[in-house]
Amino acid sequence: MMEVSEESRHVSSHVQRTILFLSAMRHFAAKLDSRGVRVRYIALEDPQNTQSFASEVTRAAKALEAAELACTLPGEWRALEMVRATGSNLKLPVTIWPDEHFLTNPEEFAQWANGRTALTMEYFYREQRRKTGYLMESVGNSPRPLGGEWNFDKENRLPFGKRGPDPRPPAPLWFRPDSITTKVMRTIKALLPDLPGDDASFGWPVTREQALAALEDFIAHRLDRFGPYEDAMWADEPTLYHSTLSCALNLKLLDPRECCEQAIAAFHAGRVPLQSAEAFVRQIIGWREFIRGVYWLEGPGYAGRNALEQHGRLPGFYWTGETDMACMKACIGQVLETGFGHHIQRLMVTGNFALISGIHPRAVSDWYLGMFVDGVDWVTLPNALGMVMHADQRPGAAPANTGLVGTKPYVASGKYIERMSNYCEQCRYRPDERTGPTACPFTVFYWDFLLRYRDRFSHNQRMRMILKNLDRISAPARTQLTIDADLLRTKFGITPAAPEKA
Ligand SMILES: Cc1cc2nc3c(=O)[nH]c(=O)nc-3n(C[C@H](O)[C@H](O)[C@H](O)COP(=O)(O)OP(=O)(O)OC[C@H]3O[C@@H](n4cnc5c(N)ncnc54)[C@H](O)[C@@H]3O)c2cc1C
Ligand code: SF4
Repeated sequence: MMEVSEESRHVSSHVQRTILFLSAMRHFAAKLDSRGVRVRYIALEDPQNTQSFASEVTRAAKALEAAELACTLPGEWRALEMVRATGSNLKLPVTIWPDEHFLTNPEEFAQWANGRTALTMEYFYREQRRKTGYLMESVGNSPRPLGGEWNFDKENRLPFGKRGPDPRPPAPLWFRPDSITTKVMRTIKALLPDLPGDDASFGWPVTREQALAALEDFIAHRLDRFGPYEDAMWADEPTLYHSTLSCALNLKLLDPRECCEQAIAAFHAGRVPLQSAEAFVRQIIGWREFIRGVYWLEGPGYAGRNALEQHGRLPGFYWTGETDMACMKACIGQVLETGFGHHIQRLMVTGNFALISGIHPRAVSDWYLGMFVDGVDWVTLPNALGMVMHADQRPGAAPANTGLVGTKPYVASGKYIERMSNYCEQCRYRPDERTGPTACPFTVFYWDFLLRYRDRFSHNQRMRMILKNLDRISAPARTQLTIDADLLRTKFGITPAAPEKA
């Protein structure tokens, strides 16, 4: 096992993400050691450490006189290619084992995808339900979903009323940093002092025991309301009814099957409604597996896609939270403080802003990869590049074809954010205004985005209604929207201001 600074620097990595990965590794190494498993562990502060993955594998292979390089399929193409290249440089055979912490492997996904014109998560999810038998019943000889529906999206997606979540959601379990974690925190402060984010609130699960406690706590206290409110947001409520288990899942402290099975058991025991159990199972056996399938299916070139040809720069406030947009300030501020944001904050606030304002997808996906404690390439990339930036259309596909992960872009004006949260109440902008000094930047960029891509999306059935609304806007008002959006892009540093003429 090796801790190399390269891994915290190839994208700018939040200090809590770095602490979490290293602390979980050190706890795991200690556990292996206590079981009598021999581990060669290179710590960050080890003077011999060359701080790069490839050179440390080479050093270890030579020191141990290795006859073979073997590893579980890593979480990113970069690491897989590095292992293969190192094996080839050292003239050693390389064995890649399947990762058993998932329900499907890339070959199975490729088989499922083969011959399909569109990859629709919903159909993949239904197959997963049939395969696992989760929340299924048999009627005669044919299996069908419990409750007669594959999903309860219509009943879910509720906003909170004016009073907000009532009662307030209990906060997730917080784990006091132990001596191993505290040492990691000190080492990182000394050796990587410039990492973004704050470490003061660090309390993520770093052991299997803590992860199991976090799972139990979620099922006992938050899962019951997870379904209905999974799309809602509320100021000063950073986690609401979400599980916050993604980092424990990605670090393999939890197995996806046990998460689903405990949620299903809670449903059968009458402790949570079907709509919440199903929504949670869907995120894990549906979205999580589907996203990973797309990542491995599309190959290393996937990261470079930019189907909408957007080239703007990531505004500085993504690194500081200093902006007068209340929703962005809250969502980014929370990420800096904790390394976490829930799905709708990622998709409909920070992500939506990036898409409609025209930021380069790679700048966006790098930010998500480094700034969230659960960031690992296989999951960040299709979410950021595909779901958020709608940039993942295959090269050469007709423009009318949709993206791979999303069949339509997830775009929304400030009015959506107003409906699903209370952020707008504290904001100097007005979500329903699209022109003038208090026009909401989301609303301006939303209409500008539709204007910029009107032709491209005109063949997409799912965009018909939205484009009809666009056509109702008068020509002068459209021109004004374009001007205002350009001014905002310059103000936020998305388009660099032209240098003044001497
Ligand atoms: C732009 C963007 C970037 C993202 N980057 C990551 C990332 O780096 N790592 C990551 O694990 N998730 C990522 N997600 C997916 C999702 O937002 C997080 O998994 C979720 O917010 C984590 O919080 P939670 O554990 O409370 O999830 P819950 O809402 O409680 O959901 C339960 C679990 O379902 C899984 N899940 C839910 N949605 C997705 C999804 N779209 N893709 C994959 N798994 C999903 C996660 O494992 C999650 O823990 C990203 C989403 C977006 C829009
Ligand atoms: S008015 Fe616009 S910028 Fe302000 S919080 Fe609402 S959506 Fe965000």
